[in-house]
Amino acid sequence: MNVLFIEDDMIETMKLQRAISKFDSRHKITEAKNGEEALEILRQGNLPDIILLDLNMPRMSGTEFLTKLKADDRLKYLPTIILTTSENRVDLLRCFEIGIAGYIIKPLKYEDYESKLKKVFDYWEISELIKA
Ligand SMILES: [Mg+2]
Repeated sequence: MNVLFIEDDMIETMKLQRAISKFDSRHKITEAKNGEEALEILRQGNLPDIILLDLNMPRMSGTEFLTKLKADDRLKYLPTIILTTSENRVDLLRCFEIGIAGYIIKPLKYEDYESKLKKVFDYWEISELIKA
C-alpha cells in the first residue's frame, strides 16, 4: 500500500518504519512532518491508499488537517486512521465527527505497538481502496 504518514516526532517515524520493515508485504511510506506539509503532498496529486495521522503536531493539528481534507472534494475519500497516544474522549469524538476510518491508541511497549500496527495494515490490505 501507499501510506501517507503524518507525524512530527522523528522517533515515532523511525518506530513505524522499523515495524513495517518486518511485515511480509511491502509498503511505500511517504512522510509528512505536519498537516501543512501533508496537504502540499496531497495537492501535488500523489494520493495514498491510506493516511496515518498523529493528532498533536505544531503549525497544524491533526483535527485541523482532517477538517481541510474533508473540505476538499478530491481528498475527502482518503481513509484516514488516527495513530495517537491521546486517550482523550473529546479528541476521539471530534475525529469521528469530522470523519475518520479508525482511531488507534499507540501502546507504550514496542512489541504491542508492532502487533497493533500489523493488524491495521492487514485490515486495510483486505479492504477495497480508493484507487487514485
Ligand atoms: Mg506528535
